[in-house]
Amino acid sequence: MTPTTTPTKGHVFLDAALELVWPTRCSGCERSGVLLCDECRALLKQIMSAHACPRCGAPFGGLVCTECYSGEGREQHQFDAAVCALELDELSGRVIVLYKDSYERRLSGLLASYLLSALPAPWLIWADVLTWVPVDRKALRRRGFDHMELIARELSERTGLPLRRLLDKQPCRDQRGLNRSERIENHRESFSLHQATHTPPSKTHAPQPSTPACSSASHLLPSTPHFSPPSTPTLPSTTHSSRAAAPLLPLAAHSLPPHILLLDDVLTTGSTLDAASMRLKEGGAVEVRVATVARAW
Ligand SMILES: [Zn+2]
Ligand SMILES: [Zn+2]
Repeated sequence: MTPTTTPTKGHVFLDAALELVWPTRCSGCERSGVLLCDECRALLKQIMSAHACPRCGAPFGGLVCTECYSGEGREQHQFDAAVCALELDELSGRVIVLYKDSYERRLSGLLASYLLSALPAPWLIWADVLTWVPVDRKALRRRGFDHMELIARELSERTGLPLRRLLDKQPCRDQRGLNRSERIENHRESFSLHQATHTPPSKTHAPQPSTPACSSASHLLPSTPHFSPPSTPTLPSTTHSSRAAAPLLPLAAHSLPPHILLLDDVLTTGSTLDAASMRLKEGGAVEVRVATVARAW
């Protein structure tokens, strides 16, 4: 997807007409004129990855939390590391629900900004490919769009990480009465590797000799007047040198790149991301790290 940098007269007219019919309101407090006002933005609780469990992203300090270990000290999750941008509370939950279920697609840029601010800079070098937990057909019909795909596209455009759809999802069976391992298996059965023509992955975010590399992520954030993005970490000089959108390329099963960065909206028990990670590893991934907009516990 190529980002539109200069709005056409048609776009400007359409935006003005939409603003009359459906005025922009703060997704937290409904103040008019902004997608998220300064006051609400200040109330969002960002999770600093340096002060969170490196396995599950819970904001309990920089050590692996007790929930990530079994009684024998064996780590539980199928994904290898997690970072989460925001603590899930009433405000962040409202923003996410407004984005997912109320057609406020412009929030994809805001939520991608928070995700970008949560990503440790070394992950941008580590990852071979960026992908997301897709919605199933029923949710796609209901919402009309795949909400994490839009955020993944935004993140790909800002980081240069190659974006690929790797998973398909069918509706889950009823989870009621299932224990944790049964829930993961139920989710695993609902995921399948996306079947398509193989395109070898490449690190398109590697620096080009003729172009100066980025020294900071701050200029990657959107300049939209609707919101001010959160502060972001400094990127190392070996990250991408191009802001061009990475192409959306599919991969065949059993040929996945080794290092996959998987995005989702909320990490709660982790069973969905565990199941998705299992599928990706069955397809050839060696390590799966996850990043989510919010963390509930
Ligand atoms: Zn507000
Ligand atoms: Zn943990």
